[in-house]
Amino acid sequence: MPDTLFSPRAAPVIPVAGGAGFPVARIFCVGRNYAAHAAEMGHEVDREAPFYFTKSAHAVLLSGQDMPYPPRTQDLHHEMELVVAIGAEATNISTADAMKIVVGYGCGLDMTRRDLQAAAKDKRRPWDTGKDFDNAAIIAPLTPAAEMPDLADLPITLAVNGEIRQEAVLADMVWSVAEIIADLSTLYTLMPGDLIMTGTPAGVGPVVRGDLMEGRIGDLTPLVTRVV
Ligand code: MN
Repeated sequence: MPDTLFSPRAAPVIPVAGGAGFPVARIFCVGRNYAAHAAEMGHEVDREAPFYFTKSAHAVLLSGQDMPYPPRTQDLHHEMELVVAIGAEATNISTADAMKIVVGYGCGLDMTRRDLQAAAKDKRRPWDTGKDFDNAAIIAPLTPAAEMPDLADLPITLAVNGEIRQEAVLADMVWSVAEIIADLSTLYTLMPGDLIMTGTPAGVGPVVRGDLMEGRIGDLTPLVTRVV
């Protein structure tokens, strides 16, 4: 190995129930994948194609740790989401085969500096500063895909200080997990280590220092974090 100026940053590792951890490479996020959330943000769902943005792997914060309130925002929002973990390489995979490359599922929070995102939207600029920042991808331990029933029936909720703010079922997703994987694989060669955050239901809103967030999806390991 050639000399390097410093040690490369290690990939964050998400615990997996009953097995070895999942080292994170890339994080793909789906926009407006629940009609009621698209409506609350002032949009209609576009069934033409899903759209995506990304977060750095180094934005990961493991569930159970505190989330430091991030800089340059007065409007930090929660977006509770199903996280899909990819365990095999795939390009142009069909929806029929897409689920074969999923190794696990988890609860995730796509934390958003909504004020910065809104300013970027107004100026038709990229969303990066609103979406991709330190600790912006909070991920709970994963459950192996082989142990999961049909996802569609699972309820997804987010409570803040014990009060439910977001509540839906995964069947409400505009694009299914298989459709998202198939479409993403036409844009990127999906690789082991990739995570997909599959979009948030309605009910997004602000959190402040001291708030306790608890996210649940069926029997997946719950996500818990406090904003500090
Ligand atoms: Mn989101």
